[in-house]
Amino acid sequence: MPRTAHFPIGPGTLRLIEGDITRDDADAIVNAANAALAGGGGVDGAIHRAAGPRLLAACRDIIAEIDHLPPGQAVITPGFDLPARAVIHTVGPIWYGGSHGEPDTLRSAYAASLARAAEHNLSTVAFPAISTGVYGYPVELAAPLALGVLAEALGTGTVSEIRMYVYSAAAFAAWNEAAVTLFGG
Ligand code: ADP
Repeated sequence: MPRTAHFPIGPGTLRLIEGDITRDDADAIVNAANAALAGGGGVDGAIHRAAGPRLLAACRDIIAEIDHLPPGQAVITPGFDLPARAVIHTVGPIWYGGSHGEPDTLRSAYAASLARAAEHNLSTVAFPAISTGVYGYPVELAAPLALGVLAEALGTGTVSEIRMYVYSAAAFAAWNEAAVTLFGG
Protein backbone atom coordinates (compact mmCIF):
# COMPACT_ATOMS: atom_id res chain seq x y z
CA MET A 1 0.00 0.00 0.00
CA PRO A 2 1.48 3.41 -0.92
CA ARG A 3 1.96 5.56 2.14
CA THR A 4 0.39 8.99 2.67
CA ALA A 5 0.39 11.50 5.50
CA HIS A 6 -1.13 14.94 5.83
CA PHE A 7 -0.29 17.99 7.85
CA PRO A 8 -2.61 21.01 8.24
CA ILE A 9 -0.56 24.20 7.92
CA GLY A 10 -2.29 27.56 8.39
CA PRO A 11 -5.28 27.63 6.03
CA GLY A 12 -3.75 24.92 3.84
CA THR A 13 -2.70 21.28 3.73
CA LEU A 14 0.56 19.51 3.04
CA ARG A 15 0.21 15.94 1.84
CA LEU A 16 3.14 13.56 1.72
CA ILE A 17 2.51 10.83 -0.85
CA GLU A 18 4.57 7.81 -1.88
CA GLY A 19 3.80 7.39 -5.57
CA ASP A 20 4.08 8.51 -9.19
CA ILE A 21 3.65 12.28 -9.58
CA THR A 22 2.62 11.93 -13.25
CA ARG A 23 -0.72 10.43 -12.12
CA ASP A 24 -1.64 13.42 -9.96
CA ASP A 25 -4.49 15.71 -11.01
CA ALA A 26 -3.18 18.81 -9.21
CA ASP A 27 -3.52 22.20 -10.89
CA ALA A 28 0.23 21.96 -11.53
CA ILE A 29 2.95 19.38 -11.08
CA VAL A 30 6.56 20.45 -10.72
CA ASN A 31 9.29 18.89 -12.85
CA ALA A 32 12.86 18.48 -11.59
CA ALA A 33 14.20 19.46 -15.00
CA ASN A 34 17.67 20.14 -16.41
CA ALA A 35 18.85 23.55 -17.61
CA ALA A 36 18.21 22.65 -21.26
CA LEU A 37 14.59 21.57 -20.54
CA ALA A 38 15.50 18.64 -22.79
CA GLY A 39 13.81 15.85 -20.87
CA GLY A 40 15.98 13.10 -19.44
CA GLY A 41 15.83 10.39 -16.81
CA GLY A 42 14.12 10.17 -13.46
CA VAL A 43 11.00 12.18 -12.80
CA ASP A 44 11.75 14.44 -15.79
CA GLY A 45 11.61 11.52 -18.23
CA ALA A 46 8.45 10.17 -16.60
CA ILE A 47 6.69 13.55 -16.91
CA HIS A 48 7.67 13.96 -20.57
CA ARG A 49 6.51 10.43 -21.41
CA ALA A 50 3.16 10.97 -19.71
CA ALA A 51 2.61 14.50 -21.09
CA GLY A 52 3.38 13.53 -24.70
CA PRO A 53 5.60 15.19 -27.33
CA ARG A 54 3.87 18.57 -27.15
CA LEU A 55 5.58 19.14 -23.79
CA LEU A 56 9.06 18.91 -25.32
CA ALA A 57 7.97 21.25 -28.13
CA ALA A 58 6.77 23.79 -25.58
CA CYS A 59 10.07 23.48 -23.70
CA ARG A 60 12.01 24.06 -26.93
CA ASP A 61 10.04 27.25 -27.55
CA ILE A 62 11.00 28.51 -24.07
CA ILE A 63 14.67 27.61 -24.55
CA ALA A 64 14.67 29.44 -27.90
CA GLU A 65 13.87 32.58 -25.90
CA ILE A 66 15.88 32.15 -22.69
CA ASP A 67 18.76 29.87 -23.87
CA HIS A 68 18.78 27.89 -20.65
CA LEU A 69 16.98 27.78 -17.31
CA PRO A 70 19.43 28.59 -14.51
CA PRO A 71 19.30 26.51 -11.30
CA GLY A 72 16.81 27.95 -8.82
CA GLN A 73 14.49 29.43 -11.45
CA ALA A 74 11.19 28.08 -12.82
CA VAL A 75 9.03 28.31 -15.96
CA ILE A 76 5.52 27.03 -16.71
CA THR A 77 3.95 25.11 -19.61
CA PRO A 78 0.59 23.41 -20.14
CA GLY A 79 0.24 19.82 -18.91
CA PHE A 80 -0.85 18.47 -22.32
CA ASP A 81 -1.71 14.75 -21.87
CA LEU A 82 -1.18 14.79 -18.10
CA PRO A 83 -4.08 14.87 -15.63
CA ALA A 84 -2.47 18.07 -14.25
CA ARG A 85 -3.31 21.33 -16.03
CA ALA A 86 0.22 22.71 -15.97
CA VAL A 87 3.84 21.69 -15.52
CA ILE A 88 6.22 23.99 -13.66
CA HIS A 89 9.80 23.21 -14.67
CA THR A 90 12.54 24.06 -12.23
CA VAL A 91 16.21 23.17 -11.97
CA GLY A 92 17.61 22.16 -8.60
CA PRO A 93 21.26 22.31 -7.56
CA ILE A 94 23.74 19.52 -8.20
CA TRP A 95 25.17 18.49 -4.82
CA TYR A 96 28.89 19.32 -4.58
CA GLY A 97 29.20 18.84 -0.81
CA GLY A 98 26.94 21.63 0.42
CA SER A 99 29.26 24.64 0.49
CA HIS A 100 28.59 25.77 -3.09
CA GLY A 101 25.27 27.48 -2.51
CA GLU A 102 23.25 24.29 -2.82
CA PRO A 103 20.80 25.11 0.02
CA ASP A 104 20.03 28.59 -1.38
CA THR A 105 19.52 27.18 -4.86
CA LEU A 106 17.24 24.39 -3.63
CA ARG A 107 15.19 26.87 -1.58
CA SER A 108 14.93 29.08 -4.64
CA ALA A 109 13.80 26.18 -6.87
CA TYR A 110 10.84 25.51 -4.55
CA ALA A 111 10.04 29.20 -4.04
CA ALA A 112 10.23 30.07 -7.77
CA SER A 113 7.93 27.13 -8.58
CA LEU A 114 5.40 28.37 -6.03
CA ALA A 115 5.65 31.88 -7.48
CA ARG A 116 4.77 30.56 -10.96
CA ALA A 117 1.79 28.69 -9.49
CA ALA A 118 0.54 31.80 -7.67
CA GLU A 119 0.89 33.97 -10.81
CA HIS A 120 -1.37 31.56 -12.68
CA ASN A 121 -3.87 31.08 -9.83
CA LEU A 122 -2.96 27.41 -9.50
CA SER A 123 -3.76 26.49 -5.92
CA THR A 124 -2.95 22.76 -5.72
CA VAL A 125 0.64 21.92 -6.61
CA ALA A 126 2.48 18.58 -6.59
CA PHE A 127 6.25 18.51 -6.08
CA PRO A 128 8.86 15.78 -6.54
CA ALA A 129 11.88 15.64 -4.23
CA ILE A 130 13.95 18.06 -6.32
CA SER A 131 17.69 17.28 -6.58
CA THR A 132 17.54 14.13 -4.42
CA GLY A 133 17.95 11.72 -7.34
CA VAL A 134 20.71 11.99 -9.92
CA TYR A 135 21.68 15.44 -8.58
CA GLY A 136 22.70 13.80 -5.29
CA TYR A 137 21.30 16.16 -2.65
CA PRO A 138 21.08 14.18 0.64
CA VAL A 139 17.42 13.61 1.44
CA GLU A 140 17.94 14.25 5.18
CA LEU A 141 19.07 17.78 4.30
CA ALA A 142 16.70 18.42 1.39
CA ALA A 143 13.53 17.41 3.24
CA PRO A 144 13.54 19.94 6.13
CA LEU A 145 14.71 22.72 3.82
CA ALA A 146 11.98 22.03 1.26
CA LEU A 147 9.28 21.59 3.89
CA GLY A 148 10.15 24.98 5.39
CA VAL A 149 9.59 26.73 2.04
CA LEU A 150 6.38 24.81 1.37
CA ALA A 151 5.02 25.55 4.86
CA GLU A 152 5.61 29.25 4.41
CA ALA A 153 3.58 29.29 1.17
CA LEU A 154 0.75 27.32 2.80
CA GLY A 155 0.78 29.56 5.86
CA THR A 156 0.43 32.72 3.80
CA GLY A 157 -2.19 31.19 1.50
CA THR A 158 -0.04 31.48 -1.65
CA VAL A 159 -1.37 28.00 -2.50
CA SER A 160 -3.97 25.90 -0.68
CA GLU A 161 -2.63 22.36 -1.05
CA ILE A 162 0.81 20.97 -1.70
CA ARG A 163 1.31 17.29 -2.50
CA MET A 164 4.90 16.28 -1.86
CA TYR A 165 5.68 13.11 -3.84
CA VAL A 166 8.37 10.66 -2.79
CA TYR A 167 9.28 7.55 -4.69
CA SER A 168 10.36 4.92 -2.16
CA ALA A 169 9.50 3.70 1.31
CA ALA A 170 12.87 4.96 2.57
CA ALA A 171 12.24 8.43 1.12
CA PHE A 172 8.77 8.47 2.67
CA ALA A 173 10.25 7.68 6.08
CA ALA A 174 12.83 10.48 5.79
CA TRP A 175 10.31 13.10 4.64
CA ASN A 176 7.69 12.01 7.18
CA GLU A 177 10.22 12.25 9.99
CA ALA A 178 11.18 15.77 8.89
CA ALA A 179 7.51 16.79 8.60
CA VAL A 180 6.58 15.41 12.02
CA THR A 181 9.57 17.24 13.53
CA LEU A 182 8.55 20.52 11.91
CA PHE A 183 4.75 20.35 12.07
CA GLY A 184 3.96 17.78 14.73
CA GLY A 185 2.26 14.40 14.22
P1 ADP B 1 17.26 15.36 -9.84
O1 ADP B 1 18.08 15.35 -11.08
O2 ADP B 1 16.67 16.74 -9.52
O3 ADP B 1 17.95 14.73 -8.68
P2 ADP B 1 15.66 12.95 -10.33
O4 ADP B 1 14.56 12.78 -11.31
O5 ADP B 1 16.90 12.15 -10.54
O6 ADP B 1 15.95 14.52 -10.22
O7 ADP B 1 15.12 12.60 -8.88
C1 ADP B 1 14.30 13.43 -8.11
C2 ADP B 1 13.41 12.56 -7.25
O8 ADP B 1 12.27 12.14 -7.99
C3 ADP B 1 14.10 11.27 -6.76
O9 ADP B 1 13.86 11.13 -5.38
C4 ADP B 1 13.37 10.18 -7.56
O10 ADP B 1 13.30 8.97 -6.82
C5 ADP B 1 12.01 10.77 -7.74
N1 ADP B 1 11.18 10.24 -8.85
C6 ADP B 1 11.57 9.60 -9.97
N2 ADP B 1 10.51 9.29 -10.74
C7 ADP B 1 9.40 9.77 -10.09
C8 ADP B 1 8.00 9.76 -10.34
N3 ADP B 1 7.49 9.21 -11.47
N4 ADP B 1 7.17 10.35 -9.43
C9 ADP B 1 7.67 10.92 -8.31
N5 ADP B 1 8.97 10.97 -8.00
C10 ADP B 1 9.84 10.38 -8.87
